[in-house]
Amino acid sequence: MSKLTRRRFTQLAAATTATSAFGLVNILPARAASGRVVVVGGGFGGATAAKYIRKLDPGIQVTLIEPKTQFVTCPYSNTVIGGLNDISFITHNYDALKGKYGATVVHDTATAVDAAKKTVTTAGGKTLGYDKLVLSPGIDFKWDAVEGYSQAASQKIPHAWNGGPQTALLRKQLEAMPSGGTFIIAPPPNPFRCPPGPYERVSLVAHYLGEHNARAKIIILDPKPKFSKQPLFMQGWDKLYKGKIQWVSQKDGGGATRVDVDGMKVHTEFDTFKGDVINFIPAQKAGKIAFLAGATDKSGWCPIKPQTFESTILKDVYVIGDASIASPLPKSGYSANSEAKVAAAAIVAQLSGKQPGEPSLINTCYSLVGPDYGISVAMVYGFAGGKITKKKGSGGVSPKDGNAEFRRKEAQFAEGWYSSISSDIWG
Ligand SMILES: Cc1cc2nc3c(=O)[nH]c(=O)nc-3n(C[C@H](O)[C@H](O)[C@H](O)COP(=O)(O)OP(=O)(O)OC[C@H]3O[C@@H](n4cnc5c(N)ncnc54)[C@H](O)[C@@H]3O)c2cc1C
Repeated sequence: MSKLTRRRFTQLAAATTATSAFGLVNILPARAASGRVVVVGGGFGGATAAKYIRKLDPGIQVTLIEPKTQFVTCPYSNTVIGGLNDISFITHNYDALKGKYGATVVHDTATAVDAAKKTVTTAGGKTLGYDKLVLSPGIDFKWDAVEGYSQAASQKIPHAWNGGPQTALLRKQLEAMPSGGTFIIAPPPNPFRCPPGPYERVSLVAHYLGEHNARAKIIILDPKPKFSKQPLFMQGWDKLYKGKIQWVSQKDGGGATRVDVDGMKVHTEFDTFKGDVINFIPAQKAGKIAFLAGATDKSGWCPIKPQTFESTILKDVYVIGDASIASPLPKSGYSANSEAKVAAAAIVAQLSGKQPGEPSLINTCYSLVGPDYGISVAMVYGFAGGKITKKKGSGGVSPKDGNAEFRRKEAQFAEGWYSSISSDIWG
């Protein structure tokens, strides 16, 4: 990937915003459309879609189904685990969506979709009819992928790959870790939610241990031969946490083959590692309702039409966020937010009898290597030949030769990004 120059990226990002904005103006109906849209999942994708459909056309009834009354984000959850922020910093609610934007929010779980009858059924016994359905259920775990690990085991060996109680549990375990103890993290195989996420977690755990448990060490047991922003992470680890982090890659047999929950051990092909705190992140697939709806293919994810994010399997059902197959976009909160706007614009256009416009999407993943040490990867995406394509010359990664001031600025940009996307979604 080419190196990003900030000026070039800013130009492209501005172009994207302008294109999207023109796109949205174009699809604004001459007369207000009417129709019923049901959105399943109130996270990065679903809450954005619900808000933007209402913003684009208040004539459309939007019902969001989400079991939680408060949403705890995964972005910035590593800062909570590393003790830099309280969990309240990453907790949001649906007040603005209900009040300011007039969506109906039903705190319940969708349990079935009848795409022929166009209905969604919930655990609470409701049946909701729709004209258009948006699914943004995020991920589910392949609990049986590695022997010994299970949903029950996650109460002792957390994954912390959904924001909330798992985040708090891992934080508590880290604080209680014995002096000189070992923290093991086992990242998942591809594809998974937030490719740089495990390595940001390693960084912020290393920062916390450096200040509170100086003799402790970290072992990464990785089923992959390489990882996102690897040279930048490794450079940062060398600068900030020299000798504290051991990365066992796939080629050195890093992939876990068995987890011994009682013995607090992870077995790999060649070795056994004992941890005082273990963070095991299982392999992933689309959220359960995507399977129940019949929107998944044999990969365990949901194929979509890239222009609108409508399912290629189910008519009038749109799948956005981590559950969708939207490559080359990564499974990130920013991608989910961008995809939601494309789907919202397409739905509003279609409900008022118009053709959807050409999508333009964007993603930036910031990671904190330390509180004042940020790195990023960015890309702008267009649509060509029926596919989502990377915009030539856009995006790239932070320069390897960035100085301390550059890294400090990127850490500030990271926080700015978090605060603006959170208010874009839940504000
Ligand atoms: C540690 C970590 C750090 C991350 N950092 C970043 C970052 O810095 N930047 C970034 O862009 N991304 C980041 N991500 C990735 C980001 O969290 C996800 O990509 C994003 O949340 C995906 O959005 P989504 O809407 O698909 O799923 P989610 O945001 O998880 O939302 C899914 C929602 O659907 C609900 N749901 C599920 N099933 C049902 C059902 N049957 N009925 C009703 N509701 C249902 C769930 O309760 C949930 O609220 C990070 C992830 C992790 C784990």
